[in-house]
Amino acid sequence: MDFADRVTRVEPSATLAISNLAAELEADGVDVVDLSVGEPDFPTPENITAAGKAAMDAGHTGYTPSNGIPELREAIVDKLHGDGLDQYRTENVIVTPGGKQALYEIFQALIDDGDEVVLLDPAWVSYEAMAKMAGGELTRVDLAPFDFQLEPATGYLKDAVSDETELLVVNSPCNPSGAVFSDVAMDHVARIAGKHDVTVISDEIYKEITYGTDAPSLGTYEGLRDRTITVNGFSKAYSMTGWRLGYFAGPAELVDQAGKLHSHSVSCATNFVQRAGVEALRNTDEAVDEMVEAFRERRDLLVDLFDDHGVDVPVGDGAFYMMLPVDDDDQAWCEGAIQDAHVATVPGSAFGTPGYARLSYAASESRLREGVDRLAADGYL
Ligand code: PMP
Ligand code: GLU
Repeated sequence: MDFADRVTRVEPSATLAISNLAAELEADGVDVVDLSVGEPDFPTPENITAAGKAAMDAGHTGYTPSNGIPELREAIVDKLHGDGLDQYRTENVIVTPGGKQALYEIFQALIDDGDEVVLLDPAWVSYEAMAKMAGGELTRVDLAPFDFQLEPATGYLKDAVSDETELLVVNSPCNPSGAVFSDVAMDHVARIAGKHDVTVISDEIYKEITYGTDAPSLGTYEGLRDRTITVNGFSKAYSMTGWRLGYFAGPAELVDQAGKLHSHSVSCATNFVQRAGVEALRNTDEAVDEMVEAFRERRDLLVDLFDDHGVDVPVGDGAFYMMLPVDDDDQAWCEGAIQDAHVATVPGSAFGTPGYARLSYAASESRLREGVDRLAADGYL
């Protein structure tokens, strides 16, 4: 078959590819400590599952309005207002089957062939693929190791963004570093984006998962209120990866344009899943707090375990990822770690940052201990 450039120019998702490899090894009877995919290991909180079941039983199984049921869009707007994003109304929101689909629709709606998209590295694997599928050209800004913070004084964002830039993607708390960008950093982004009239995606899917700090929402900053598209989803904070539910909020004209893609592709997000989403947003604070506390304990445990082996790791204040410094050839390191030590991690180069392996600590404490022990025993630390 003669495949279109838009698919042949991208690679499969590295995070999902490694997790598939881990699953294959498991199927062959190998016990793999899977620290690859970013998926909370907790069950979806019971009240949410019950709401989904009740919605199904009540017959909420048909199509919904394409952009989402009013109850969910209202709950989303209330949540966004709670984050200080009071520029959004229900007509600014599209509910999607996952945050990924929200991002995909935004890239498709905004990026033409040759348009410049700026990413801050390390950056989540799918931004690059989505930009390329839309025909975009990437400019990648290297955030400084070791903490991968966005430091205004370095000037690297200022140098990368120009009047030619169409879109800037900011993800805080960050996948894969766990970094939470400071108020000063966000203000810096706002100034630069404002100066060059750049649209900004603020991917806030880990916003609820922070330790002892808050992740400011970019759309609250002066100059960014009308040019920020806020993306979020239910997968991480509510442990709802397989339910496939997310959303974006942005200027009404973007909703009109992206809404066409949405209605001609997915039609709508699943009806009873949207109703479970209302329950998640309205009534699930305690369960979220418990999961976040567990993630914090696991992060601290990993830091201590690596320290015991003399390895210093950057300590992020959010999400559930850590960048472990490894060999320059991080691909070979990750392949070796999974084949020899049976510990699955994702090469930093998949995120634009070679020399690191990303670990997801959405795993039990005993599996984290086992993973570090195996890496040490097989000479990977
Ligand atoms: N953004 C980031 C940074 C992510 O890590 C993920 C995780 N897959 C997503 C968006 C999308 O998640 P989902 O489609 O499950 O909502
Ligand atoms: N976002 C998660 C990760 O980075 C899930 C996998 C994916 O969607 O890429 O591992």
